[in-house]
Formats: sequence, C-alpha cells, structure tokens
Amino acid sequence: MTKYVYDFSEGNKDMKDLLGGKGANLAEMTNMGLAVPPGFTITTEACLGYLDSDAFPKGLANEVEEHLARLEQAMGKKLGDADDPLLVSVRSGAKFSMPGMMDTVLNLGLNEDSLRGLAKQSDGDLRFANDAYRRFVQMFGKIVMGVPGDAFEHALDEAKERKFAGAQDTDLDAEDLKQLTAEFLSIYHEHTGSDFPTDPREQLTLAIEAVFKSWNGKRARDYRRQNKISDDLGTAVNIVAMVFGNRGTDSGTGVAFTRDPATGEKVPYGDYLPNAQGEDVVAGIRNTLPLVALEQLDPTSYAGLRETMDTLERHYHDMCDIEFTIEKGRLWILQTRVGKRTASAEWVMAYDMLEEGLIDEDTALLRVDANRLEELFKRVVSSDAGARAKPIAHGLNASPGAASGKVVFSADEAEEWAKRGERVILVRRETTPDDYHGMIASQGILTSAGGTNSHAAVVARGEGIPAVCGADEVKIDLDARSFSANGTRVAEGDVITIDGFDGAVYVGELPLEESVLEKARGGDAEAREAKIWKAFARLMGHADVRRRLRVRANADTPDQSQNARDRGAEGIGLCRTEHMFLGQERVAAVQQMIFAETPEEEQVAYDILLPLQRNDFVGIFRAMSGLPVTVRLLDPPLHEFLPNQVELAVEVAVAESKGESAPDLEEKKRILRKVNELHETNPMLGLRGVRLGIVKPGLYAMQVRAIVEAACAVKKEGFDPKVEIMIPLVATKPELQQMREELEPVVKEALEKEGVTLEHLEWGTMIELPRAAVTAGEIAEVADFFSFGTNDLTQTAFGFSRDDIGKFVGMYEERKLVPANPFVTIDRPGVGRLVRIACEEGRAANANLHLGICGEHGGDPASVVFCHEVGLDYVSCSPFRVETARLAAGQAAVGTAEVASK
Ligand code: PEP
Ligand code: MG
Repeated sequence: MTKYVYDFSEGNKDMKDLLGGKGANLAEMTNMGLAVPPGFTITTEACLGYLDSDAFPKGLANEVEEHLARLEQAMGKKLGDADDPLLVSVRSGAKFSMPGMMDTVLNLGLNEDSLRGLAKQSDGDLRFANDAYRRFVQMFGKIVMGVPGDAFEHALDEAKERKFAGAQDTDLDAEDLKQLTAEFLSIYHEHTGSDFPTDPREQLTLAIEAVFKSWNGKRARDYRRQNKISDDLGTAVNIVAMVFGNRGTDSGTGVAFTRDPATGEKVPYGDYLPNAQGEDVVAGIRNTLPLVALEQLDPTSYAGLRETMDTLERHYHDMCDIEFTIEKGRLWILQTRVGKRTASAEWVMAYDMLEEGLIDEDTALLRVDANRLEELFKRVVSSDAGARAKPIAHGLNASPGAASGKVVFSADEAEEWAKRGERVILVRRETTPDDYHGMIASQGILTSAGGTNSHAAVVARGEGIPAVCGADEVKIDLDARSFSANGTRVAEGDVITIDGFDGAVYVGELPLEESVLEKARGGDAEAREAKIWKAFARLMGHADVRRRLRVRANADTPDQSQNARDRGAEGIGLCRTEHMFLGQERVAAVQQMIFAETPEEEQVAYDILLPLQRNDFVGIFRAMSGLPVTVRLLDPPLHEFLPNQVELAVEVAVAESKGESAPDLEEKKRILRKVNELHETNPMLGLRGVRLGIVKPGLYAMQVRAIVEAACAVKKEGFDPKVEIMIPLVATKPELQQMREELEPVVKEALEKEGVTLEHLEWGTMIELPRAAVTAGEIAEVADFFSFGTNDLTQTAFGFSRDDIGKFVGMYEERKLVPANPFVTIDRPGVGRLVRIACEEGRAANANLHLGICGEHGGDPASVVFCHEVGLDYVSCSPFRVETARLAAGQAAVGTAEVASK
C-alpha cells in the first residue's frame, strides 16, 4: 500500500518531491527540535492520484483520519469539540515555492459549537474567538470555495467605518466581529448557493480537495510556465495544529530573513505584526513593524527567534526565510525555506558565507545565477535622483536597466527617430512580432498591458533593452499621440525615464549612472571596494579555475575585440566579415564585383576591397595578440549587397513612366537585371557560405590574402597573431577540401611575399548543416577545427526560419511543443544530438580536431552546460556575455563533477 500521509516526525528536508518544500522543511525542523506545532503532510502522490481520478486515492481518507487522531491525542484536543477544540491550518506546499497557488486556510474546525469551546479555552476571550471564526469563514470562502475576496474585505471595511472613521481591525470588539461573521456567512451563501459547512471533517475534506485542485488552477499553471516548473509534480497538503498570533498584545506574527534579501547584508530582516494572524502580514491590512521592533516588544521571543535564525542558517548553510507566530509570549516556527534574493544579494551572500566558512568555494560558485549576471552590469537611475523624483506610474520590472528617451508610439517611428540619432522609448499597449524593428531601435520599452512573459518583456530581455511592462496606470491615447498617468500627460517627443529594475516610470530625463560592477570593471577605485565587486572578482576567479571550457567572443571590430578581452575572452570564435562589406565605398566595390563581366573587372573590385579588409583585420589581431582569432569568410548571399528588388522595380517603372534621363535609368535597369538574376526563393538555403566561395573564387582568395597580410603586418609590429580561417555552410568534405586546395596557395604566396612565418594558422569549418554534422567524420579529415553554428543548425534541423520564429515560438512554448525557444537554449535531443555525433565522429577521425560553438547558444548558461558535457574546447558568444559564459562554464564543471561523484 502506498503511504500517503507522513507525520512531521517522519520526514526530512530531502523529501521535497513527496512532501513538498513546506512539508519537508517542517519535518526537518521538527526533527531538529525546533518549536514547530505538530502536524502531518499529505503527499504530492496523493494529489496526483486525486487529480487523475477526481477522488481521494484508496486509503488516503483512512490515513488522514489516523493522523488526525494522533494529532488530537498529541494536542489533547478534538476537532470540532464544544469544550476544547483542536483547530488546524491547511497549507499547500509544492516542491518549489509557488506564490501562484492556493495558500493557507487557518482556524479550520470552527463552527458555532467549537467557537464556544475556543472562547472557553481562551479565558472567555470572546473577541479572540469571534475574530478567529470570522477569519476562518473569510479564508475558507475565498480560498476553498472561490468567493471573491473583495466581498469580504468590503464588509470588513464597512464594519470598521461603522465603528469610527479610521478604525483598525483591532478596534472591532467581540460583538462587532460576531456581526461581521454573520455577514460573512451570508456572503458565503450568496456566492456558493449553500450553507457554510459546519462539520469540521467536511471542512477538512473540502480544504484538502481545494489544495489538490489548486495545482491545476490558472494562476498556478501560469506561474509554472513562467518559472519553467513541471506540471507533473503535484502539491502536498500540510495539516498543522493552530497556534494564534491574535491573542492580544503579547502575541503576533511575522516573517524573518536571516540576511537582507535585497542587499545580501548579514543583518536580520523582516516584518512583525503584533496581535495578528499570518495572512494579515501578506494582505497588508495593517502596516507591519520592522522585525527589529520585536526586540523591544518581546525581548525573550526576539532572542529565541534570533537563535532559531542562526540555527537554521547553520543547518541549511544558506539564507533562510522563516514564518513565525508568537502566542502569548511563546514562539512557534511555522515555516522555513531557503529565501529568495535579488541578483546582487546572491553574490554578496555567497561571498560572505564563503568568507565566514559556512560554505566552500564550489558551493559559493553554484549559489549565483549565471542567467542574472548581465543585470548587474546594467545602468541604474543615480541614487539621489531616484530618491528625489516621484514616479508617475509603476509597472512590472520586465527587463533590467534604466533608460531615458523621447516617447514614440509606434515601432516605425521608433526606427525612424532612432535613425535620425534620437534616443527613444517605445510606448505601446503591448508589442507584437511586427514591432521588433522598433523595439531594437529603442533605448527602452514601456507597455501598459502584459506581464513579465509578454512579447515585449521576452524580446527586451533577449536584446538587453530595459523594459517596464504592464504599467496599467499608463493610458495611451493614440489619436492624441500622448499618454496620461495619474493626472500627468506625456506627449509624443516628451522625454521620460524608465527603470527596468523596479518598474518605475518618470517624466523627464533622470541622471543615469553605471552600475557598481561596471564602474569597478572600468577601474573605479571606490567601486572596487564594494562588496559586490569583491564577490564578483572572487567567484569569477574560482569559475576560471574550475572551468574546462575556454570562452571566446563573437566580435567583428577592434573595439568589440578589446571589449571582449577586457571581459576575459580568450580569443575570437567568430569574426563575421560581412559587416566589413558595408559602407558606401565598400558597397560600391562589392557591386562592381557583382557586375563584373570578366575576371579582370572582378579583380579591380578586389583590389579596392583588399586594403580595406586588411585594415579591419590588423586592428583585431592587435587587440587579440596571443589569442586565436577565427575569421569566417563571407557568408551571406550577394543580393544582400544590392538594393531591394521590389523597391527598385517600382523605381524603374516610375522612372520609365516619367521618361527620366536615359543614363540614370539604364543604370537602374542594369542593377535590376542583376538583382533579378541573383534573386532566390529561399536565400537562407541559397548561394551563400562556401557555395559563394566556389562560385566566386576570387572573393575568398581576396579575403584570405587580406587576413594573412594583416597577420604578417602585426607580427612585424611585435604582436602575436593566431589565425584561424573558417569556411561557412559546408555540407560535404569535397567543398572544404576544394576550398583549401584553392586557398592554401594564396596563403603560401602571401607569406613568402611578406617574408613572415605564422606559427598558428588553421583551417576549419562551421558545422551548421545536419549533413555536415552526420558526415563530420569525413569532413574532419580536412579540417583543423569545427565551430558549431547552432543558429543555422537549429534552423535547418527544425526547418524553422530563425528570422520568423518569433511569430509562434511563444505558443510552442506555451503548449509545451518545445521546452524552450530552441534558438536560445540548445535542443538537446535533436540539435544537441547532431552536435554530439559530429564531436564524436570528428574526433575519431582527427584526434587533433578542436571544437567550439559560435551560435548564440554559446552565451546561454543552460547550453554552456551542454557544451561542457559534450566536451567542446570552447564556447564563443557576444562580448557582453563573456562573463556569463565564464561563470556558466565554471558552474558546469563543478555541477557535473558533483553529479559524477554522487
Ligand atoms: C550560426 O549559424 O550559428 C552562426 C554562428 O552563423 P551566423 O549566425 O552568422 O549564420
Ligand atoms: Mg550560420
């Protein structure tokens, strides 16, 4: 028989799967001898069984009855007793804490009979008993039966008003509360169509069922989707003997954190509410006191609490948050868990705990979240300005960072204004994939609707653009080209500032400043004294010691290269050469190459391009002296360097109809002819990459010559260039082989001409087509290295267009058709498998082959773990993600070592 119910004395903290986080920790604390009220936990398995069959699984009702009997015995009280009733709380508790779920029902077991018993047992304190009863009706109605909470709150407000203007709930006397309960009971009847259940066992059954069902409630499902929690876990239910914080001024309730969750500082932190029950703290009915106020109010309980806080922190080796209640001077611990904290607090805490000897370096390294590291480098509203200015609205802090700019209301305007050099904030009700071009042109994004998982929020985070979303106080009037918020009108073109850290929106330009970490990285002496920098330096140092993966950057300019190197990049894994073909002078030369009718004409164009290209590489090789630089030869199709086909056709038609001057028209027609000739239905699958190199051999030869000449030039200056030439979009061994055969003589000739030798010059290819991956064994015979182009590999493995996936990937994630956007986090079973095959077969064929990744996945922490596991030599990512990748690589090494040693 499956055991569905565990007494608190039977569990421990490692049983979260079965007992949920709350139940497992209550059991742990019980066994530690802490003052936990007795109780028991119904397992997540029971929940799953119930959800499966819509009925309690066999044996559950009996087990609950047995444990209840034990609890009654332990407490010397009986549920529903008219003399000395046992009251219990019913609390949900999944494996992961889920604020989106059903919460807690307190005081269960009350009815008119047990109410008398409760009054009797509390020395005739009718006020207390009536208060407990009205709370129970309210909570049971709202949480178990779904009666709108407002209905009760409204009645409570009226009762307070009736008492006297400005009365608090504590001002209501026994009679007021009795009357209020009667009102609550009729509200209950009105909304549920039935009488309030008076049988405590029926109350308990209904409450347990409600907790089970809440697992599939909308809020819970939304929360799970957003936080990537599996739907298959179920929730546990905890039944705990009640203790009361509302038994007078020597009672109260609160939440304590063993360290400050906002700053990470080692100071006790939390809230306390005298003479209240737990839900009052959360509901914000009365203003809470800071935890330290308890020291004055009840020094003994405060000392006891501090001791418990220390005990728990030492036991869990982490910051704990604790719910507690004091009943007539006696402290009870109702819950603990490892507390949530801000991105900067997690670094500070990990560092402090390491210094205190509470945890070791590996543990400290695993305590910080690589996904949140970028946040710490974002600009912030300078602290004095933030303190002085008053926000006109608040929304969700959807993407970190602060930004100022002129308000625009459409994506097209955002793009146009940005092109003129304006800094803009795009303000929309919400955004859609069609707004993408305007979003990336903006300094920041503000939406009046949508949550932290809305399109705006997801894109903003992906692009590193600060965003405030769902600021519903912002009322947009598109006709008037303005918005208003709490009485302030803001017109198009007016400047606003948004703070993506706290969701505030301000009128005007607030001074922004670099974050402490950014300042410290820049060498600011004061910032380097800050704890967060010390934490960063120490833990990143440890990540570097532990990681096996090297970290390179994708960089195309000397500035980007230097920036990447400053962040710890150990080379360039992808230098895309296409941007080097932009700019008026170069586009003209490229067009000349495209139009050339003879090899001689083509050569003229190459002769113009060659010195320009050489110069580009010189700067990069200097910045990366001593470190490898992988230069990828031109990848995109040639039509990208010609004007837009449709626009040009229209221009020609218009010019023709106007009878424009002949030479100009002829030139346009010539270009149009070429555009039409080069037009492809599927350019992503067309004449690009190595195919271009084969069709236009002079092009790759020119690039290779420029690379080698640049390397020779910087070597003569005393630098140490390490050159890796990469051929893109290879599908077959002969493609790479022929390219090498054509290009190696170019290298030889250039080196001879320069009279220089290069110790490090390698040839490799991107593996970005499934065919290349599964024939990697052959390709490796003619390659020194592979670099996985997982952007194209994902595109071609799924057949998803990387440029258009935004239109439906959200829905795919929502429906669990993919676990995550496969262009962000590598698809292990599919694309990952191709990578694995290529690594294994490539290495088997060529033991010296070195392997890297340069698709966007190289900067995604979850994908970095995969890269570590599959045994790549390096990951390459955008310069601003280099630290994230270093950290993730260190964590992967520690994490997989831990798994291996278990
Ligand atoms: C890739 O395809 O993953 C890649 C890095 O190349 P690009 O993004 O330039 O196509
Ligand atoms: Mg590619």
